[in-house]
Amino acid sequence: MNGLMMEYHLTLDRILEHANHISPHKRITTLQPDGTLHRYTYADLYRRVKQLAKALVALGVQPGDRVGTFAWNNYQHLELYYAIPGAGAVCHTLNIRLFPEQLSYIVNHAADKVVFVEGSLLPLYERVADQITSVQHYILFNTPSDTQTRLPNVLFYEDLIESADEDFAWRSTDEQMAAGLCYTSGTTGEPKGALYSHRSMYLHALGAGQANALGVRETDVVLPVVPQFHAMAWGLPYACAASGADIVMPGLHLKPEPLAQLIEAERVTIAAGVPTIWTGLYHELKNNPRDISCIRALVVGGSAMPRALTKAYESELGVNVLHAWGMTEMSPLGTVCNLSSQHAGLSDEQKWDIKAKQGYPICGVEMRIVDELGQELPWDGRQMGELQVRGPWIIRQYFKRDISAESFTPDGWFRTGDVVTMSPDGYMQIMDRTKDLVKSGGEWISTVELENAIMAHPQVLEAAVIAIPDAKWQERPLAAVVLTPDAQALTSADITTFLEDKVARWWIPETMIFVDEIPKTSVGKFDKKVLRSRYAEGQLG
Ligand code: AMP
Repeated sequence: MNGLMMEYHLTLDRILEHANHISPHKRITTLQPDGTLHRYTYADLYRRVKQLAKALVALGVQPGDRVGTFAWNNYQHLELYYAIPGAGAVCHTLNIRLFPEQLSYIVNHAADKVVFVEGSLLPLYERVADQITSVQHYILFNTPSDTQTRLPNVLFYEDLIESADEDFAWRSTDEQMAAGLCYTSGTTGEPKGALYSHRSMYLHALGAGQANALGVRETDVVLPVVPQFHAMAWGLPYACAASGADIVMPGLHLKPEPLAQLIEAERVTIAAGVPTIWTGLYHELKNNPRDISCIRALVVGGSAMPRALTKAYESELGVNVLHAWGMTEMSPLGTVCNLSSQHAGLSDEQKWDIKAKQGYPICGVEMRIVDELGQELPWDGRQMGELQVRGPWIIRQYFKRDISAESFTPDGWFRTGDVVTMSPDGYMQIMDRTKDLVKSGGEWISTVELENAIMAHPQVLEAAVIAIPDAKWQERPLAAVVLTPDAQALTSADITTFLEDKVARWWIPETMIFVDEIPKTSVGKFDKKVLRSRYAEGQLG
């Protein structure tokens, strides 16, 4: 040994190489647009990714170029997750639910050179085509090869793959190369791009998969309901390949009924999505019971999982709920709420109290909380402060935006904008976004906690709380409430009575408005900005 070692770069192709060596036979199943199942293996994925990466290079894609995807969750999108970074380029997932002006802003800001568009989404993309300045090629998939489109320079996916063979050397030669780009949903101001390197995505895959995090194993069958355009499907596609887990992709079938059927038929063990998805699934299962006890972790993140829903899944359906918290800027995983050995003797009710929290930071994420003056606060489970984080998969700046001063502290921590408490044993609980808190008579009211309490009512499907101006108290909470389909003439007085022993009396909103649905953001969260403007325009009750 001469003591010289080649540096080992943590690049995403190595995760795929690993899957191809160790788990080539493991399955990837996609529910296709026509309702049929497409099945293949990691070996098939590997072969096609190599062809696709080679074809992209032949098309003129250079290291560092951004290549966009506009697609549901399916095997082609998975291929792009590896082929684009493997070609040395940056996989830029475009959120299909954005308004046209946000979408065109993002494609132009990222200067995407090539964009892959799924057939069913073509009409949505075509609406912005005229505003796009950077794209040189569009590649269509899941659509017949005689599809007519207004998009210029169109190629078809399968033709592109067939144009190249598998003899390709990965272009991702350095772990510091950019590999992924995801814009935040942009509830305020212009969307901001979070750029991930190969290294950060590789480490995040290991971090998210670790036993005390999501704990993805070879024996798992993983269903990412969370879209691939929402923070890289929370890193699951990479964590699955790293551990050789089977993957099930729902395609465009995100309604409760097909999801329930897919989970039961494919014996899914880990399913991940936002609370709205699991609210819908729960009510579907109440009406059309199915056995989904195959699920050993129902991963919920993106917004707070109501305690009542966790209790319902665990006590009625035998499904373990795993609450998680993260942000696009964090690749995204930050905390998970597995119970620890210290909780062994607790009653079920006490366990659900803990599971309503967002959980402890996974190894790889450091956290601290600070007050309004930036002073660090103790982890006593009571004092609320802004959560700040740092770690190897947390961005250090936004893509082509100089807003570091407001987003990062001078000593390099990322300001999450979430207001939380930390318990002495490291369990974090989100109280609010800084901008959503209600300040009433000089005291804070946590809208998340209030929503949780209202949603515990068996006849309430969803509840969102916003601050409204108040002459006496400065601000008061307003609750917008959606009732379950079978609710009996529930009144705001009934809800007030229900809340009396659950929250402080002065937290109870005087104004409760019954609505048909809560407006949602492009990634399925309560859109409080829209609620606030509806209230301001007098459209709410
Ligand atoms: P995004 O980058 O779109 O995923 O949004 C990140 C934000 O979603 C966080 O800063 C939180 O405000 C919120 N969020 C994510 N997970 C949770 C959770 N489990 N509970 C409450 N809020 C959450």
